[in-house]
Amino acid sequence: MKPARLVIIGLDGVPFGMLKDFAQTGIMPNTNRIMQDAFFTPMRSAIPEISCVAWSSIITGVNPGQHGVFGFIDINPGSYKMKFPNFNDLKAPTFWEQCRGNSVIINVPSTYPVRHMNGVHISGFVSIDINKSMHPASLVPQLQNLDYRLDVNAQKAHESLDLFLEDLDQTLTARIKAVEYLWDYTEWQTFMPTFTGTDRLMHFLFDAYEDAGHKYHNAFLEHFRKIDKAIGDIHSKLAEDDVLIMLSDHGFEKLEKDVYVNHLLVSEGFLTFRPDAEPSLNNIDSATKAFALDPARIFINQKDKYPAGSVAENEKETCLKDLKNLFSSLEIDGKKVIKHIYRKQDVYTGPYIDNAGDLILIAENGFNLKGAMTSKELTAKGPFTGKHTYENAFLMISNQNVVPDFDDLPTVIDAGALIKSLTSDN
Ligand SMILES: [Zn+2]
Repeated sequence: MKPARLVIIGLDGVPFGMLKDFAQTGIMPNTNRIMQDAFFTPMRSAIPEISCVAWSSIITGVNPGQHGVFGFIDINPGSYKMKFPNFNDLKAPTFWEQCRGNSVIINVPSTYPVRHMNGVHISGFVSIDINKSMHPASLVPQLQNLDYRLDVNAQKAHESLDLFLEDLDQTLTARIKAVEYLWDYTEWQTFMPTFTGTDRLMHFLFDAYEDAGHKYHNAFLEHFRKIDKAIGDIHSKLAEDDVLIMLSDHGFEKLEKDVYVNHLLVSEGFLTFRPDAEPSLNNIDSATKAFALDPARIFINQKDKYPAGSVAENEKETCLKDLKNLFSSLEIDGKKVIKHIYRKQDVYTGPYIDNAGDLILIAENGFNLKGAMTSKELTAKGPFTGKHTYENAFLMISNQNVVPDFDDLPTVIDAGALIKSLTSDN
């Protein structure tokens, strides 16, 4: 069955348990009402569990080996030269480029710069130039009139959490105004507003969610109340044969400790830099066996692949085994740090698999893996109190008739494939 119209509401980073909690305790009454008749399940994120990889999977319905986005940073093939992949690097078509009718796509991460499509596209995090963030371009002055902001200014959180919360709220208000304005702007078949302030809020203030006595507990709840009101407004405008999907791209939980993977690789002799050089990708020396890119993608420094490559093809397996042993035995404060160690061929398929890390690590609860090379310690505690999780994103589908038979818990790729099947011509 194809819905007359499909609405997809993205809630960046919102965990299954939190949504259920807010629905049941009256913070999100509209969501609660929708939930009563809906299919509602925990969902698995992408590997690794970061927004750009997960949303790229949701909008294409395919895995990173096919859509080509493996992280917020990548290196050009055959070099250590870093690049920041954007929408131009997405190698698979999005559902709105293959669907019947017009789409209205608002604030989906990693969709900058926008390109021609049928309908409206406002790109999300990371959008740089507003003129390259809106299609059609004539929307720029109209949305600026609504005080539309491409993103919350997270820098403010480092100055003051009050200023950050004010900015977060203004950004949400303007986003909701844009959603209302664009609802009737054009005839559409698919409408996808994505709320991303939730991710920022949980990074800085996950502790305020858990602690009812926290200074910002109510501000935290207020953000979700406001989103729920917008969800209610959207839901009230839907017809019987329309379908509403709500979903998040990954879960969230309390952050106990940041763990710097490259620091571990240095201290265990896998990663070395040229004498007297800053620790950076460009200064890797030829004794290096492996290095990590954010958040925890481990690349073997292969001879035929990188300028200072040292590991020959016939040494690669041993090196991978040594690394697996290192990561699986890593403990901090008596706790195991790494939950899953995936080899790329076990989790990715497709023409771009060569660009993937050789191992991808997923952390145990509380640990946040980081790829920065400059950390002088293995662990640290920065300003964040929340971190992404691979488990416990959520998927909600208002009409049970369109729910496919998921063999196991669905992943963001399954959600993307469902969206594609509901919006496609055939
Ligand atoms: Zn996210």
